[in-house]
Amino acid sequence: MSAPIYTRIALIGLGLIASSMAHAIRRGGLAGEITGYARSAETRETARRINLCDRVCDTAAEAVQDADLVVLCVPVGAMDAVMADIAPVLKPGATVSDVGSVKRHVIDVVQPHIPEGVHFVPAHPLAGTEHSGPEAGFAELYDNRWCLLVPVEGSDRAPVDRLRQLWEGMGANVDEMDADHHDLVLAVTSHAPHLIAYTMVGVADDLRRVTDSEVIKYSAAGFRDFTRIAASDPTMWRDVFLTNKDATLEILGRFTEELFALQRAIRTGDGEHLHQYFTRTRAIRRGIIEAGQDTAAPNFGRETTS
Ligand code: NAP
Repeated sequence: MSAPIYTRIALIGLGLIASSMAHAIRRGGLAGEITGYARSAETRETARRINLCDRVCDTAAEAVQDADLVVLCVPVGAMDAVMADIAPVLKPGATVSDVGSVKRHVIDVVQPHIPEGVHFVPAHPLAGTEHSGPEAGFAELYDNRWCLLVPVEGSDRAPVDRLRQLWEGMGANVDEMDADHHDLVLAVTSHAPHLIAYTMVGVADDLRRVTDSEVIKYSAAGFRDFTRIAASDPTMWRDVFLTNKDATLEILGRFTEELFALQRAIRTGDGEHLHQYFTRTRAIRRGIIEAGQDTAAPNFGRETTS
């Protein structure tokens, strides 16, 4: 147990990410008190029933009262309105952070609301599951995962370092990155792959085979992993694509070009091209394992799938 890093942390939005934070903050004794707010009465009721926070409030303004850290845990498209709502009641000296999957857009819409004397330190934990809601969270979600802090220009160092301590206390490894670079990196590592998974499952569905038990039964991890990714929250992902438009389109453009080249190699029987391409991508996977970023065990160390 560490000493509390903040006296009061307010979590606005009580879904997977916020509920995992609440569990991890409690596990580490990182806050004197956790308050929470969610938009719907149903979510607030669930949060109270499972005792997610010390206090679940009926308004966001009540939840952020006297908080020294406020974390916006709502979909990216909702950040602007939520921030406008709480801005007048923020405590002087408080820090506002967020967990949004896109950073440039969040900074553009949140920063103009930040009152004089309040700090803003955007963040993005690179951890999640396909589940949503207050009951989806668990304390270990951030263990050994990365959390990227994206300090805004001219921000004080102390609130950034304090937030870093919080995320480290929740088990995460912390790095700092510029917003535009973050959005490009995430477009490659997360946003475009999600869109590809959504597309692949959609294509299989169009063929009317996706619900056919044989597709799942014989898919091993490949198609199954696509269906898991494509089960992710539709609101969250709609917002990600609408707000990380440029970087996602840039990566999808490159992806489409490569796909066309592979398509052409298959059509023309250019086995040399295919072999060279797959040799290159295999080397990338080996590099990831050598860098200690993933396991070398077959199928990510899972039990055999049938
Ligand atoms: P979630 O489980 O779906 O929870 C979202 C929460 O936001 C719920 O409490 C919901 O309230 C509230 N909300 C939704 N729309 C709202 C609106 N228009 N106004 C006010 N509140 C609203 O989502 P999550 O997975 O925790 O994601 C939260 C944030 O974390 C998003 O910005 C996402 O980009 C980011 N993130 C997600 C992941 C991931 O893998 N899931 C990973 C990293 C970062 P109700 O329940 O009352 O509807």
